[in-house]
Amino acid sequence: MPSFATSPGTRDIIAPDAARWRSFQQVFADVVEAAGFAHIIPPMFEDLGVFLRVGETTEIVTKEMYDFEDKGGRRVALRPEQTASVCRAFVEHRPVTPWKVWYAGPNFRYEKPQQGRYRQFDQVGVEVLGVDDPQLDAEVIALAVEFYRRLGLRGVQLSLNSLGDSGDRDRYAAVLLAHFSTHRDALSAESRATLERNPLRVLDSKRPEDAALIAAAPRMADQLSEAAASHFVAVQSALLAGGVGFVVNDRLVRGLDYYRRTTFEFVSTSLVAAHTAIGGGGRYDGLVAELGGPDTPGIGFALGLDRTLLACDAEGVFGAPAARVEVFVVDATGGSEAGAVCTELRRAGIGTDRAYDDRSMKAQMKSADRAGARLAIIIGDDERSAKTAIIRTMEGGSQQTVQRDALVTHVRQALGR
Ligand code: ATP
Ligand code: MG
Repeated sequence: MPSFATSPGTRDIIAPDAARWRSFQQVFADVVEAAGFAHIIPPMFEDLGVFLRVGETTEIVTKEMYDFEDKGGRRVALRPEQTASVCRAFVEHRPVTPWKVWYAGPNFRYEKPQQGRYRQFDQVGVEVLGVDDPQLDAEVIALAVEFYRRLGLRGVQLSLNSLGDSGDRDRYAAVLLAHFSTHRDALSAESRATLERNPLRVLDSKRPEDAALIAAAPRMADQLSEAAASHFVAVQSALLAGGVGFVVNDRLVRGLDYYRRTTFEFVSTSLVAAHTAIGGGGRYDGLVAELGGPDTPGIGFALGLDRTLLACDAEGVFGAPAARVEVFVVDATGGSEAGAVCTELRRAGIGTDRAYDDRSMKAQMKSADRAGARLAIIIGDDERSAKTAIIRTMEGGSQQTVQRDALVTHVRQALGR
């Protein structure tokens, strides 16, 4: 018989992590829904063209996309991110603005799998369409900061930059191209290849041989239009007014071509190596128009769930939630009592489990322990005939015998509810 394991870059998320993932998404939903964001669930694959708008010169599109022709001859791709899908949805449904949505779910990128970098990875994120007020930029950033705070993360650093408007960006690209071209031979082979396609991406190179040239490169700040520059100043003042700390990093370019003006990234100081970025985002004022919609500003962020949980591990915060089973039924009469007790307690909203196959009392108590139950309900032949049950506290082992028909009340009491 052949045996199978998960494909490279994919994982099974099993207990206790799966529950932790869910509460991660729940905490996120709580934070953003309290700020007026509505849930959106875009499809996991779409017309390839939607994602090509992300930027035909980016690694995500040129190297990492899971695209293929389906059996109907359509060229589709598994989504590598969700911002493009949200913008496509905006164009398709034309909702009233501001349109504030949040999402959670997997994305797919053909990357070299390693710790913190997977081919299927999860993100949570928000997008706001239709507003170009710098107050919003600060509010969106503050939401991510608040979410990290709720997780209990402390070592998160916010870097901020402005990429200007599209004219500024093109001008800056030309200046950069000139700078790097004069020192072309000193660049790494990767950066030489990137240079022609997208000079801004060279700034993102982590290769040591590029470091000096990058440090000496011209600055985006000098190319910003007056409008983009004052927007950037306003975002910074709003962040400062809201007590959100940040550093301006004018080398921050980020991986997607569609960013305009405000861009930002969150780095975990508790992680090491090449995967310290736990989230990022920015403005993408041209994307909706690129997808065939009206000229509409947009801003959002995406936070990597997998990596953020690694940061939580490193800081010892946001552990797996407690087991939902609070009561375990130990039935020494052959198992027929356990079914009825489970139904009754579960109906009353009390997490309850049981054993099967008429196992020994000792084995059932062991299962109760493993299930993380706080109470065991023990029913033997004596209890059955007397219409009673024993409630045993797992920790400490104290016991009380109660009337079977008042079991729910007594269990509630014993659980302190
Ligand atoms: P990186 O530079 O690490 O490749 P990115 O710029 O490609 O990140 P974004 O597209 O901005 O990442 O996605 C936002 C967040 O999603 C990242 O900060 C990261 O936490 C997470 N992320 C991106 N790609 C992966 C991946 N392959 N595996 C796990 N998490 C990822
Ligand atoms: Mg990447």
